[in-house]
Amino acid sequence: MPVKNRFAELLPEIIAWRRDFHAHPELMFDLPRTAGRVAELLRSFGADEVVEGIGRSGVVAVIRGRTDSRGRAIGLRADMDALPIEEETGLPHASTAPGKMHACGHDGHMAMLLGAAKYLAETRAFDGTAVLVFQPAEEGGGGGDEMVRDGLMERFGIDEIYGMHNWPGVPLGTFAIRDGAVMAACDQFRITVTGRGGHAAKPHQAIDPVLVASQIVVALQTVASRLTDPLAPVVLSVCTLRAGTGAYNVIPQTAELRGTLRTLDPDLRPAAEAQLRRIATLTAEAAGASAALDWMPGYPATVNAPEPTRAAIAVAQSVAGSVDTGFPPQMAAEDFSYMLNARPGAYIFCGNGDSAILHHPGYEFNDEAIPFGASWYAGMIEARMPLD
Ligand SMILES: [Zn+2]
Ligand SMILES: [Zn+2]
Repeated sequence: MPVKNRFAELLPEIIAWRRDFHAHPELMFDLPRTAGRVAELLRSFGADEVVEGIGRSGVVAVIRGRTDSRGRAIGLRADMDALPIEEETGLPHASTAPGKMHACGHDGHMAMLLGAAKYLAETRAFDGTAVLVFQPAEEGGGGGDEMVRDGLMERFGIDEIYGMHNWPGVPLGTFAIRDGAVMAACDQFRITVTGRGGHAAKPHQAIDPVLVASQIVVALQTVASRLTDPLAPVVLSVCTLRAGTGAYNVIPQTAELRGTLRTLDPDLRPAAEAQLRRIATLTAEAAGASAALDWMPGYPATVNAPEPTRAAIAVAQSVAGSVDTGFPPQMAAEDFSYMLNARPGAYIFCGNGDSAILHHPGYEFNDEAIPFGASWYAGMIEARMPLD
């Protein structure tokens, strides 16, 4: 099963959908035009069921195979939301919405899954049910979580689920994947340090929260470097340090730190939270100040299950020939993780070639990747639910 010939025929049509999505980006859960167009196309292909409004603005299509002897259903997922970025590509189909851009290639994911839907509805060469999932709010809104909470898996009887992301730097026409954790968990924290304000010339009469916050920033680096097994990846970045009014001669009353913690091993998350709390409170206490930690759990790690990963690799190899099966885990996060926590499955990277990086104003999804991605999506359905 190389790239399916049908996708070569459908390519101009799929590219037109992709560029239309690209020109009209929408954010988070607010996707009236995008989700409406996805649903309209799925109906036009003759999908057996198209349900809108799952997980607020998600769309799900059901396509039944020629037979259903085992009662199996396989889910395929694409994301639909864009980013709050001002596009700088200058392309003819560039964003028409100021300050919004499909800079993560979700326009391409939708187009490839729609292409697969059209092919599957035409051919139906599988034994079971294909469930095509178009989710909102991947970029920070937890739309995948919302769909799972809205009963996605139970309502459509999904046994396994598969997702894909285009990846700049992975050669065009190839795939990359790994067994186990592929993307990190992403938690956020805010530390508020309270000291005692005063005159900059009389520090002994004040408690300087700026110095305490600075010591906490330094001490937090031990979470990754001293407190965690060096073979278990942890990234801790303090990204905001806020204190004072802009004055040159006032010790402020408070200081605030904000940052993110990324981990692959789920067991490290509670341990790291406890370490952060201890470091913040005890460092502050040593200076006579106080510190409070707000811990905001984010997306869990995206973890591929062994058997579905083998299946994903086999289909990718048949489509592309070249698959990097030891792709290094990425410390970015992905909310397909919620779907993989609910059902076994796998998440694969589809080569976008030598393009600008994701979330860059000059990024562009590579339309030449469409036949590969669409063939992989459709191939997963035929491979996991073969006709007798
Ligand atoms: Zn993104
Ligand atoms: Zn993305």
